[in-house]
Amino acid sequence: MNSLKKYWKKRKFEKTPEPKGKVLKTSKNRFVVQEHWAKIHHFDFRLEMGGVLKSWAVPKGVPEKIGLKRLAISVEDHPVSYINFEGEIPKGSYGAGTVKIFDKGKYELKEKSRDRIIFVLKGKKLKGDYCLIKFKKANQWLLFKTP
Ligand code: MN
Repeated sequence: MNSLKKYWKKRKFEKTPEPKGKVLKTSKNRFVVQEHWAKIHHFDFRLEMGGVLKSWAVPKGVPEKIGLKRLAISVEDHPVSYINFEGEIPKGSYGAGTVKIFDKGKYELKEKSRDRIIFVLKGKKLKGDYCLIKFKKANQWLLFKTP
């Protein structure tokens, strides 16, 4: 079940400029990568899916070359309206720091199961076939580009 409960619970919307959002019924098959200068710099990779943005924190960023495998940690679903979010999450708030869009665009879903998502990214910087594979360990995935 897709839900924004965890997303809402972590944030105080009177303090953060992040959108409160809601679960939507439609999907436009978009993705976004947001660079996030939080306590630990990382990238957030999000796929619009099932009325929310399925989200992963990718410490080293989405690989642009074949052969690079990157750890991706699944995090709470974000609202679809987060796809356009850029700004400054204030000090003391969850995820405090600057967020900037690194890339966004459409994607094409090729395959999806509980532990495997195969898709094609059609962004400005990120293009081509990608695979996300879930480890046995909770929340940990591997993200890589395929030929
Ligand atoms: Mn983040």
